Amino acid sequence: MANPPTKEQERLAALLQEGRTFSQPDEFRRQANVRDPKIYDEAERDFEAFWAAEAEHLDWFKRWDKTLEWNVPWAQWFVGGKLNATYNCVDRHAHSARRNKAALIWEGEPGDSLVLTFGMLEKEVNRFANALKSLGVKKGDRVAIYLGMVPELAIALLACAKLGAPHSVVFGGFSAESLRERINDAKAKVLITGDGAWRRGHVVPLKHHADEALRDTPSIERVVVVQRVGAAAPTSLEPGRDFWWHELVAQASDQCEPEAMDAEDILYVLYTSGTTGKPKGVVHTTAGYLVGVATTHRMIFDIKENDIYWCTADIGWVTGHSYIVYGPLANGCTTLMYEGSPDYPDRGRFWSIVAKYGVNVLYTAPTAIRTFMRWGTEWPARHDLSSLRLLGTVGEPINPEAWVWYHQHIGRERCPIVDTWWQTETGMIMISPLPGLIATKPGSATKPFPGVRAEVLDANGQKVGPGAGGYLVLTRPWPAMFRTIYGDPDRYVAQYWSRYPGKYFTGDGAKVDEDGYFWLLGRVDDVMNVAGHRISTYEVESALVDHSAVAEAAVIAKAHELKGQAIAAFVTLKDGIPPSEELKAALRQHVANKIGAIARPEEIFFTPELPKTRSAKIMRRLLRDIAEGRLLGDTTTLADPAVISKLKQQYEEEGKGE
Ligand code: ATP
Ligand code: MG
Repeated sequence: MANPPTKEQERLAALLQEGRTFSQPDEFRRQANVRDPKIYDEAERDFEAFWAAEAEHLDWFKRWDKTLEWNVPWAQWFVGGKLNATYNCVDRHAHSARRNKAALIWEGEPGDSLVLTFGMLEKEVNRFANALKSLGVKKGDRVAIYLGMVPELAIALLACAKLGAPHSVVFGGFSAESLRERINDAKAKVLITGDGAWRRGHVVPLKHHADEALRDTPSIERVVVVQRVGAAAPTSLEPGRDFWWHELVAQASDQCEPEAMDAEDILYVLYTSGTTGKPKGVVHTTAGYLVGVATTHRMIFDIKENDIYWCTADIGWVTGHSYIVYGPLANGCTTLMYEGSPDYPDRGRFWSIVAKYGVNVLYTAPTAIRTFMRWGTEWPARHDLSSLRLLGTVGEPINPEAWVWYHQHIGRERCPIVDTWWQTETGMIMISPLPGLIATKPGSATKPFPGVRAEVLDANGQKVGPGAGGYLVLTRPWPAMFRTIYGDPDRYVAQYWSRYPGKYFTGDGAKVDEDGYFWLLGRVDDVMNVAGHRISTYEVESALVDHSAVAEAAVIAKAHELKGQAIAAFVTLKDGIPPSEELKAALRQHVANKIGAIARPEEIFFTPELPKTRSAKIMRRLLRDIAEGRLLGDTTTLADPAVISKLKQQYEEEGKGE
């Protein structure tokens, strides 16, 4: 293990140590949308006025009477206002100078593509809204959507919103059983699905899964099927129940009046990723949500009129709802949508898309960045990434090593990085730098967005001092906050508003440093207690990922007779690095050097893959089950159930620990 560090490693180490603060280039700051730091004080002084001023950017059929009605924990924003989300995202731009501007750029996995201008998108949305009407969909009816990343997915959301029918998108990678559960929970009347979806050149048979789910979904009356893969997935329609999308829209008018929605009418229901347990149906309403996502999108991503903006999430997750569809389109911004996988046909696909369309703003996830690191720098190096101006990340805490890699190899040390912390429940980004104002530190999401107030508390509800870990709470309502859990208001109160009365409990651990920067430490459940010391899984993982042999790591605490809990690390090595006992010892020592002997993992276990949710987050609770020899908990939200069963078997064969 004693190889001398390469020049590159030395340079990286220096970068990681230089106080770890990156101030934004002057060039960027001068042109930023938000340049005046007064925004923070002003919003802090009167957050309602701040959000009311932002609401003026939308078109209202009727202005609101009252900005906020707050009866803890029940919020109403823009009370009495009337508007339509799709009118704001599409129609008003289609009837402006943006008529012929690209609204949606779509890149198919096999290489086909489509551009819809705002004018064209308006017509497509209207046709499909009329098709839904012809199937009996009315304001208030729930529509379930189970599709791959095809243009029809975005169109379907907007068509539902135009009619005031709440959509409930179920990620196209979910199983029949997960789909059925979500349909039944939301009591959806119509399902929109496809014949299949492309994934790494293979077909995911969506309609086949849907048919299986539909055997026991009494609320579903009609099914619409998008044709995407054709002969690759022979599909049969059930007469009277199923209809082809293309046949319905061929007969539909391209004119459709937007439904005037109350500010607090439901826009959509969306189930959380299920990282911690059974997914919850998060309810978002119309006005506050739209104000929240449009404002954060414009300010945090520093959106300019001619920007090509690409968020690589799937619309099946909240990130796609807020930052592929509603936020960007409300701002009249060109939003890019990619259908497929980052390694199809090769590991340079993302970078070839950036070069092909001249992407200016890229928003992706730490899990993707760690994968790119593992694949090596030669892939991005082959493509022209000079159009990029700003980079974003979301989904998990980003390890400093990955942050610096993103900064160097994708941003070419020129692009600010916005690390954005938020949740399905918050609807919009809550903690993130405003890139023209806030210097960044790798691994920190920096500061709460203007008007947002966050605190870190101990178990007794006292604010903890700088550097000490605790529970992250939000202490003031915000417009895009979820309003309830669909059909389960008691769970809304019990899970989120009871631990610290009057404060929103995020379920995440965090600390604040001397400069007031927030560092997210992962789920509360993932914070370990080793011999009386609270250590976050994230810190140990970051120390492991910091080692040149490691691609990814998941750390858990397992019960230990003496220490209470002992640290176990599941480690994936970089391509071409063989596992060995020496390497295990070196990694243990590396963690001890970086954090302290107390954090030295008791046990290191090499695995080719880590169990992840379908939204690609590491699922530590299943690793805990394995390490403690329990039966596995709920595995329905796993991306690949085979990974966990293989891991369990391998773990049991190798004998626990050493
Ligand atoms: P479930 O609530 O069903 O367990 P989930 O929490 O994974 O699923 P999401 O709402 O998609 O579902 O994810 C939100 C969570 O993701 C946050 O609570 C936090 O733990 C993590 N997260 C998101 N962005 C960041 C970030 N920038 N830094 C650190 N953690 C983040
Ligand atoms: Mg959650």
